[in-house]
Amino acid sequence: MELEQTFTQALEYGRQYISGGQVATYIPELAKADPNWLAVCAVTTDLQSYAYGNAGQKFTLQSIAKVISLILALESVGEDVVFSKVGMEPTGDPFNSIVKLEKVSTHTPYNPMINAGAISVATNIPGATLEQRFDNFLQFTRKICGNEDISLSFETYLSEKRTGDRNRALAYMMKSGGVLTGSVEEHLDLYFMICSVLATCRDIAFLGAVLANNGIHPQTGEQLVSPRHLKIVRSLMVTCGMYDASGYFATMVGLPSKSGVGGGIVSVVPNVMGIGVFGPALDERGNSIGGVKILEYLSEQLNLSMF
Ligand code: GLU
Repeated sequence: MELEQTFTQALEYGRQYISGGQVATYIPELAKADPNWLAVCAVTTDLQSYAYGNAGQKFTLQSIAKVISLILALESVGEDVVFSKVGMEPTGDPFNSIVKLEKVSTHTPYNPMINAGAISVATNIPGATLEQRFDNFLQFTRKICGNEDISLSFETYLSEKRTGDRNRALAYMMKSGGVLTGSVEEHLDLYFMICSVLATCRDIAFLGAVLANNGIHPQTGEQLVSPRHLKIVRSLMVTCGMYDASGYFATMVGLPSKSGVGGGIVSVVPNVMGIGVFGPALDERGNSIGGVKILEYLSEQLNLSMF
């Protein structure tokens, strides 16, 4: 009961900040979101679920897909292959920035949580065709989010493909340095598709619960993320998961987290629970403005910070 009250209060606390944010418009399909949507969900490692606010509202994963894709890439080809084409350092720059990519002679992206890094990481998702590669991603997403109904928003995918020239620039820069090989347009297509997968706040809370539960699916007991890869993924979420506000967020909330411009944030409370928040009104860094405040409130009230 006490926990339920804390979640309700966190939601109301976050709601006060919504008017200071704006929905993303650079991907036209995202502009259709209602800035007043707000939700918080939690799934504990012993499978208790909590859901408040617009918890049934679907949104596209956007950058949260970067976490799933990194896990799938690590589990498929191993860390040496993955990190031969992406680094482990935060940039302090916006998620779609090209500045640091240009400065490294090989054009190797700094980390898997920025767009360039995620485009590189996704090239490791196995499959002979684009369809097979996306299907592998989708099946893995359904499993790690505990929801067999998760699907693609074709409209968002097309919207991203039509307007994704900045990502195209990043990808061609990486090709010029040899980071990307083969069809750049196919790599981009896969990236746009994985960003356009629809989920709910509960789905991302479940993802958080797997990462909280030492990489083990809390229902089936399947080890979806090896202990070594779990350490890598959770560390990169702490250092790079909240765009160029990762330092602030680590200080104020102190949990491995990843946000997306669709308004979702997944947070991991190790050994306890996954938390999903959703609010499409974003702050100037691209993080859900109400969502960040909800997590600040929960971290403070429940003493959740890892640090
Ligand atoms: N699909 C988005 C893009 O590439 C993802 C951005 C994000 O959520 O950070 O711009």
